[in-house]
Amino acid sequence: DGNIRFENVKFHYDPERPILKGVDFEVPAGKSVAIVGPSGAGKSTISRLLFRFYDVTGGAVRIDGQDVRDVTQDSVRHAIGMVPQDTVLFNDTIEYNIRYGRPDASAEEVREAAQMAQIHDFIERLPQGYKTEVGERGLKLSGGEKQRVAIARTILKAPPILILDEATSALDTHTEQEIQAALDQVSKNRTTLVIAHRLSTVVNANQIIVLEAGEIAERGTHSELLEAD
Ligand code: ADP
Ligand code: ADP
Repeated sequence: DGNIRFENVKFHYDPERPILKGVDFEVPAGKSVAIVGPSGAGKSTISRLLFRFYDVTGGAVRIDGQDVRDVTQDSVRHAIGMVPQDTVLFNDTIEYNIRYGRPDASAEEVREAAQMAQIHDFIERLPQGYKTEVGERGLKLSGGEKQRVAIARTILKAPPILILDEATSALDTHTEQEIQAALDQVSKNRTTLVIAHRLSTVVNANQIIVLEAGEIAERGTHSELLEAD
């Protein structure tokens, strides 16, 4: 499960200004597609339509053949996990933050998810450090660590579809590599939509779509697109 189809999708926020002008692609269940392109091309809009934050103004978005307009928003959102660009955490323990979305998970399941995302060392911590009578103790989580909390949460939720929104863009190279390893784990055998700026960050995607001004300019594998340049 988790097949995604965009059928001639058109969308505008403002009728005077089309954002997507007939976008057509399919991601087979368990495979990955990366949408790359300049800022403003409409990449995030594609993930918002998949999430049903907005409805298309033409064409259709289908998950497993079903038009997302015909299913409840809750069940659409249940099927999709998101690792956003900037993860906002609740001011509660990391464990609480990982469990959010699956409060029934066992301690063992939480530990495993934390281990995969390499944050098992600090699941007792608070995102801002510990609060004690003498003030805050411990380090604040870095951007990369917060992102790994979001990854652990997604591993635990185990949705069939995963959206990675430029998840590694704001990080230094070392953190990026660590996170990439965790992302590779979580996206394995899961339908994955990666939103990215640069072709160089999506080498392993099964299919890459280059979006420019709301239209698909090119598509192919990483090596096909490099040859075309
Ligand atoms: P990308 O992710 O490729 O940078 P977006 O999908 O975020 O592009 O945005 C595409 C275009 O839609 C941009 O020109 C942006 O200004 C516009 N846009 C995005 N969100 C809104 C909104 N809520 N209302 C109006 N215009 C928007
Ligand atoms: P496969 O099914 O062939 O193993 P995946 O479904 O794992 O492929 O595809 C996801 C791929 O996209 C990852 O292997 C990774 O290299 C790349 N990727 C994942 N997340 C990001 C991200 N946030 N930014 C850039 N590239 C990413």
